[in-house]
Amino acid sequence: MIPFVDLKAQYASIKDEVNAAIQHVLDTCQFTLGAEVAKFEEEFAAYSGAKIGIGVNSGTSALHLALLAAGVGRGDEVITTPFTFMATVSAIDYCGARARFVDINPRTLNIDPARIEQAITPRTKVIMPVHLHGQTADMDPILEIARRHKLLVVEDAAQAHGAEYKGRRAGSMGDMACFSFYPGKNLGAYGEGGLVATGNPEFARTIRMLRDWGAEKKYHHVLKGYNYRLEGIQGAILRVKLRYLERWTEARRAAAARYDRGLADSGVTTPHAEAYNRHVYHIYAIRTKQRAAWQDALQAQGIQTGIHYPFPVHLLPAFADLGYKVGDFPLAEAAANEVLSLPMFPELTAEQCETVCRAVRGLAGASLAAAS
Ligand SMILES: *Cc1c(COP(=O)(O)O)cnc(C)c1O
Repeated sequence: MIPFVDLKAQYASIKDEVNAAIQHVLDTCQFTLGAEVAKFEEEFAAYSGAKIGIGVNSGTSALHLALLAAGVGRGDEVITTPFTFMATVSAIDYCGARARFVDINPRTLNIDPARIEQAITPRTKVIMPVHLHGQTADMDPILEIARRHKLLVVEDAAQAHGAEYKGRRAGSMGDMACFSFYPGKNLGAYGEGGLVATGNPEFARTIRMLRDWGAEKKYHHVLKGYNYRLEGIQGAILRVKLRYLERWTEARRAAAARYDRGLADSGVTTPHAEAYNRHVYHIYAIRTKQRAAWQDALQAQGIQTGIHYPFPVHLLPAFADLGYKVGDFPLAEAAANEVLSLPMFPELTAEQCETVCRAVRGLAGASLAAAS
């Protein structure tokens, strides 16, 4: 069996270091925030090319607090992509604001900057691009539009630790950037975690307060805040894992290159990485109009796959109140119907990649034969 992700293999490779890091937190009893979290914040901000990092208890919390720090509130609008995980849009909803979607570039699956300007209204406060599957959105035109319209840019970098756009890291380009350390992400905690990266000390100060009950210092609550603190044990584990992240990212990129080569000329649509980007392959998604049949056939051959994501957010029942309908964002809708994520994790072997390619090529060949 080839799993879709293999968290056990990774834990086995760093077990002693992780166990020692957890033991250290138990010995010091700094269970929430504390020294390990503070050091991790510094180290991860440096890794991402940002001045400041503020650790929180999930990627969703990071998005929520970044939008609050940006001043997003009731009646405001945030421009984003419909082809993302629900959390991007929930964070906007938590602020009492409205998501205004813009369709995607069908090659990269990221928000299409050419469609952003027509979605701007007097209520727009923020543009929130998502670096989907580990490839950054096309940031230069997005930053230029934001500058011209005096809007802030918040990157949803939950899938893009270490990704680069023209040499700049995800997390260093927008006014703020939000990361998730959900266990399956490229840098995963052993529980929940998230972080806001920013170069702006005022935003950082606000977010630090909001994550800890809006307190300037203990019991001096100047804002209506939240309990969004990052746990000490997660901070300590993330510090250990951050030291391996570059190695793991290169292993993902090597696996993706193997898939690219193994599926070349097979008729299968493989992910398109712009030459100026460093794609970190959180997800390696091919596209096929026979997705359901391919997924079943691969499962029958012992190959687990995933779908990221089967529904664009504007068609989720949970967001019916936004008033969108089928046909509003046809490129995102087509992608949601066709994407199929192949197994992708740093420990994936060359042999496993070959097995997957052989199986996918077989399906593509059978589809071509049936069509002719
Ligand atoms: C995972 C993810 C989130 C949410 O992060 P959590 O840590 O699970 O709250 C937000 N946006 C995107 C694009 C994600 O992939």
